[in-house]
Amino acid sequence: MEINLISDTVTKPTPGMLDAMMKAEVGDDVFKNDPTVNRLEAKVAELFGMEAALFFPSGSMTNQTAIKLHTQPGEQLICDKYAHVYNYEGGGASFNSGVSCKLIDGNRGMMTASMVEAGINPPDFYHSPLTSLVCIENTTNKGGGACWDFNELGKIRKVCESNNLKYHLDGARLWNAMVAKKETPKQYGQLFDSISVCLSKGLGCPVGSVLVGSEKLIHDAIRVRKILGGGMRQAGFLAAAGVYALDHHVDRLADDHQKAREIGAVLSKLDFIKKVEPIETNIIIFQLDEAVMSADRFLKKLEENKILIIGMGQGKLRIVTHMDYTNEMHKTFLDLLQHLD
Ligand SMILES: *Cc1c(COP(=O)(O)O)cnc(C)c1O
Repeated sequence: MEINLISDTVTKPTPGMLDAMMKAEVGDDVFKNDPTVNRLEAKVAELFGMEAALFFPSGSMTNQTAIKLHTQPGEQLICDKYAHVYNYEGGGASFNSGVSCKLIDGNRGMMTASMVEAGINPPDFYHSPLTSLVCIENTTNKGGGACWDFNELGKIRKVCESNNLKYHLDGARLWNAMVAKKETPKQYGQLFDSISVCLSKGLGCPVGSVLVGSEKLIHDAIRVRKILGGGMRQAGFLAAAGVYALDHHVDRLADDHQKAREIGAVLSKLDFIKKVEPIETNIIIFQLDEAVMSADRFLKKLEENKILIIGMGQGKLRIVTHMDYTNEMHKTFLDLLQHLD
């Protein structure tokens, strides 16, 4: 039995999801004629209380489309130094939109409103790039699945309003944050100009992300998606997985969070572990005491037992729990951790 804890993207569709996919009614979505894609988009827009939504093949493409629509070449966006849009989208912000990133030295991927305010370049100082967008990530990926304080997000919104900035949320794992903090999509819909959510992370779909925003934004997003090569034809087979996941796989995220906390509790008692970051959702980031156990040796020992996790450099390691990580696997993994030498 292989136990893959590298990411929550390693999940495979459940029989119920596959069944929904096989039965999907489809059409050509590039002509907006796929009823299942239309149903998914309407459902997500409605959930967030926003005007419209658009289905995309990836979360990088939803984020990149939002950045393109909210900025002009030469401008600057503000994000935390850990942000996915800065670190893990292949330099897309500069490649696609010609914008630079002002990186904020936040805490676990999260900034305060005053940090954001201090990062804005004065609009009449033409030597600096014009600040036009703030990008938030919730939960934070590199920050270890941390959840934002919703009040702080409201304060940042005010900063955006008074400085004429757009406000984008990379909500690849927003479902995890909402379950952990008992928040609703509508709360988020009221704050942001655009929200990107992934279906292919904790929700267990094979493919797909959705961008949500105003009618105008989503209308313009269709063109950018096409330019980026993201127009898909009978995409209803994939959208059906999304509809199914929204109906069946959101509440169960609490299960992944519980398992993550239990792993963290075991890890923090091991003598070769120096530090376990606080665990709020399904991501566990921890640091080995490399004088006692090197990251390579630890990874190798786990691998010998068919357990896969990922290194993040500098002795930091990451574990991500997900739908396909069963109770049985959980028991096996916790037992093994306690008996490693
Ligand atoms: C996974 C992820 C994305 C999107 O990734 P894709 O692999 O392009 O779907 C965006 N933001 C964050 C924070 C992520 O974790």
